[in-house]
Amino acid sequence: MITGKNFIGNKTSSKGTITYKTFNPVLNKETPWTFKEATSDEINEAVSLAVEAFKEYKSCSGAKKATFLNAIADEIEALGDSLIETYTAESGLPEGRAKGERGRTMGQLRAFATLLEEGSWVEATIDTAQPERQPLPKPDIRKMQFPIGPVVVFGTSNFPLAFSTAGGDTASALAAGCPVIVKSHPMHAATGELVSAAITKAAEKTGMPKGVFSNINSKGIEVGKQLVMHPKIKAVGFTGSIKGGTALYELASQRKEPIPVYAEMGSINPVIAFPSALMEKGDFWAKQYAGSITLGAGQFCTNPGLILGVKSDALTKFINTLGKEISQIEPTPMLHPNIHKAYKTGMETASSQAQTKEVAAYTGKANPNYGKAKVLTVDGNVFLNNTVLHQEVFGPYSIIVQCENDTELENILNALEGQLTGTILGNAEELTQKSKIVDALKEKVGRLILNSVPTGVEVCPAMHHGGPFPATTDAKYTSVGVSAVKRWVCPVAYQNWPLELLPDALKNENPLQITRIVNGIYTDKKV
Ligand code: NAP
Repeated sequence: MITGKNFIGNKTSSKGTITYKTFNPVLNKETPWTFKEATSDEINEAVSLAVEAFKEYKSCSGAKKATFLNAIADEIEALGDSLIETYTAESGLPEGRAKGERGRTMGQLRAFATLLEEGSWVEATIDTAQPERQPLPKPDIRKMQFPIGPVVVFGTSNFPLAFSTAGGDTASALAAGCPVIVKSHPMHAATGELVSAAITKAAEKTGMPKGVFSNINSKGIEVGKQLVMHPKIKAVGFTGSIKGGTALYELASQRKEPIPVYAEMGSINPVIAFPSALMEKGDFWAKQYAGSITLGAGQFCTNPGLILGVKSDALTKFINTLGKEISQIEPTPMLHPNIHKAYKTGMETASSQAQTKEVAAYTGKANPNYGKAKVLTVDGNVFLNNTVLHQEVFGPYSIIVQCENDTELENILNALEGQLTGTILGNAEELTQKSKIVDALKEKVGRLILNSVPTGVEVCPAMHHGGPFPATTDAKYTSVGVSAVKRWVCPVAYQNWPLELLPDALKNENPLQITRIVNGIYTDKKV
């Protein structure tokens, strides 16, 4: 049963008077549940408990934290159909997507557990002393990563599970050894409550300190602001709009002690269609891209919002086929009336820009909150000089830019803001011949894709889901894959420290049997 309460440490709490409801976009009506926004006292209590929990949790062994993360995955699985039904009711996303996202969420938790069990992620680096060195002796120096402290995670609207309560940000922060306070996304507060109950149960079963996890309800930005400004919070994870992410980033940098905000924000994910792809497989790619643009009503951070090519008959044919395909795809519900409204506004703004032409639009009748696809086209020089067209339109939308030549295409890439992904459709010969274009794209993105669609992010250690601003606030870090743990740690070096008092990861005997860098060489041997 959904209670609408906050989770403060291992207890539920509802002291506030501000209430709100979530919304079923398919039925176009509110869900039956009522949620209570957290009060300042409840927020302070969650932070105080997290501070206390950190004293113990930061020293938990990798094996113990792994047991906790695996237990969270098990408890999420044990929620069974109730989680899937609540997710679909609050998001309008289909059951298959809900189940897939649940699997991905559990997979992420288990991947971090495996990382902890293996242990080398702490990056233990040992430089042994050289007392005889001239002109000065070299001291013994040993460094490793340590957790930074309580972290605030903002749940995101478009991934109610995989980027929310127990999503990648939470899993990676808990793996690092940081207690987590989730600021629940107001559009799927019931899904968040079920997952919070699962995390709390797992924490109790595995003997984690009270306060290692809290879930704070809110509708409106004040609660999130208070959390970010709390002096005991050490970092923030966020996925959402550029406006929201940059507001939180600026807020955090104005604190007496500024803290990092790892925000993943907007991206239009440029796709470049080289001549070989258009001539040899134009129809194939048009069909693939019609599917990718409309997948999940276009509500993916990796949605292909910009397709670039040099004018040719093959490009015209590609555009026509894409148009035909798009206009046949039935609209699907968007997450919420507000996101639907934002999509309509963004799409109308783009369509009203001078010299843009419609390639395709779904013209049939659609239910309220359903996103009708739209694809525009425009000449390269017009796109280059109108940055309104460079902005993300979150939904089933894309613009195809027809360039005069490769130089114009390269100039456009140079004028774009930072992106999560950049895709090239073409062959290896073109990658070499058009290396200036490839280089220009590489400067702007966190992931280069060849002959595929950008939607669908593989969760694996080599994944980099990040990119230059405004795709993220820090291009060095990923929010997908086990490297995401690096956002929540900080190195400390020990100089001339008594060997027996060093953390296990830095001891000569290497009791954890992890891979370390000893005097410049990767090894799992004793020093
Ligand atoms: P959002 O508006 O950025 O909100 C995300 C979370 O941050 C919410 O919990 C929100 O709180 C909070 N927040 C936003 N601005 C804040 C501020 N100034 N101070 C404190 N907290 C703040 O994103 P959304 O609700 O998920 O969707 C809105 C739009 O964001 C979409 O239409 C889309 O354009 C974009 N979006 C992009 C991506 C992407 O991956 N590129 C993903 C999701 C959304 P409240 O809701 O409680 O106000």
